Amino acid sequence: MNNAPILLVEDEQHIAQGLIFNLRQEGYLVTHVENGEDALIELNRKTFALIILDRMLPDGLDGLEVCRRIRALDPQLPILMLTAMGREQDRIDGLSEGADDYLSKPFNLSELLLRVHGMLRRSAWYRTPARLERSYSFGASQIDLDSGEAKNQESHFQLTELELRMLKLFFSHEGEVLSRAYLLRAVWGMAPDTETRTLDNFIVRLRKYFEKNPARPRHFVTVRGQGYVFYKKP
Ligand code: CA
Repeated sequence: MNNAPILLVEDEQHIAQGLIFNLRQEGYLVTHVENGEDALIELNRKTFALIILDRMLPDGLDGLEVCRRIRALDPQLPILMLTAMGREQDRIDGLSEGADDYLSKPFNLSELLLRVHGMLRRSAWYRTPARLERSYSFGASQIDLDSGEAKNQESHFQLTELELRMLKLFFSHEGEVLSRAYLLRAVWGMAPDTETRTLDNFIVRLRKYFEKNPARPRHFVTVRGQGYVFYKKP
């Protein structure tokens, strides 16, 4: 999991500098911001493998609100929350808003690095989509999820591994909006470059394969500003 891109949201300079230094020593690619607004901007721009999020942030958006907004878009991005010592309610709030783990300040640096490492390892494991039947049908299409053989109304064809991986994600999250960041991370792994049009090109291809009218998709639908959603029955 080295080279995993990590977003650090921390306004206290001395803590941030120490973390940046040590995370980079471990090989992680660290992006640092000091408030919630900037965190959301970065999350829109880039794909991260994990976020370290301070609970107490300046300027309006606190860590809890940031956590809530991340979860609305990406149910799987690992979030490690940093809380003030002795504030048990902070930890409970953080976990109930979707943080995966927390550490109280002042924390032990080695422990933080171990948690980060463990969270990344588990997230790679869980990223594998839920179990599906071997064959999946919708509309006039049928897909063999083991072999990647597919057919639509007109023809038989072979899906690539990445196309198949993306389809499995859609099928196992039917009716849920999947954010661009989530899809990029889940299909392409740690690719930090979300400027790429690759994702859009993939969606265009899936529509060509499986939509009656690719220009007016009813299965693979764009949700503006959020991502894509798959409907089995349009
Ligand atoms: Ca703070």
